[in-house]
Amino acid sequence: MIVVMEGILWLLRFAVGACVFSFLNVVVYRLPKGEPMTWGRSHCPDCGRTLTARELIPCLSYLIQGKKCLGCGKKISARYFWVEAAGGMCFVFCGASFGCGIFGLLSLKGLIAFVYLGLLTVISLIDWDTKMINDRFQIGIVLLGLAALCIFPEHTLMDRLIGAVIIALPMLLLALAVAGAFGGGDIKLMAASGFLLGWRAVLVAMFLGLLAGSIYAIWLLSRKKLKGKDQIAFGPFLSFGLGVALFYGDRIADWYLSIL
Ligand SMILES: [Zn+2]
Repeated sequence: MIVVMEGILWLLRFAVGACVFSFLNVVVYRLPKGEPMTWGRSHCPDCGRTLTARELIPCLSYLIQGKKCLGCGKKISARYFWVEAAGGMCFVFCGASFGCGIFGLLSLKGLIAFVYLGLLTVISLIDWDTKMINDRFQIGIVLLGLAALCIFPEHTLMDRLIGAVIIALPMLLLALAVAGAFGGGDIKLMAASGFLLGWRAVLVAMFLGLLAGSIYAIWLLSRKKLKGKDQIAFGPFLSFGLGVALFYGDRIADWYLSIL
């Protein structure tokens, strides 16, 4: 019985995460177009029909409808499904890593981590679509960093201030020296994230981001999809590194320092 109750609780946590990221899908779709996010029911991007309640169940609606719009029959992008599924998994992972708190959903540490993963997801998808990172998301990360001063006291203010410059400053200098080396949004993302995660984790994040971005660029080049002057959005790869570093950054850094 206890096992069943536990299972239901984890499913509930997954559903909460999927619902939040379902809203983030709307943000990613509407924000670059300048559409308001808080009003106006969700609609099919192809036929414009307003979606009914049963078409708005995260993850499930997509599968039940056979991946198609019930009105016009056009295929729904799989990205909506995967973003919702990722939201569910992020919530579960934050709960498992940082505790589920007194209400059984998320501890304060877990909440900070989940909000951060949500911001990274929005930054990544908008950067992927438009090659732009909106400043308001970096400000959100700095606010999380300020809250984390009390909630993650294991990272001191000095640790965070070094984190804010240890990657962002070299990126800025490189961008000044070589035009187009890094976008301003990428630099601000690493500064804000360094303040939140501390210097060791942000170093690990940069390494992982560069590794993932390089593998993707080599893959594109090998398939002749990338020409010399083409630029790829770096935000999603940095966000990947930052997301991993949020959970394992300090441990990876400690392990690396121990083998030196
Ligand atoms: Zn439609």
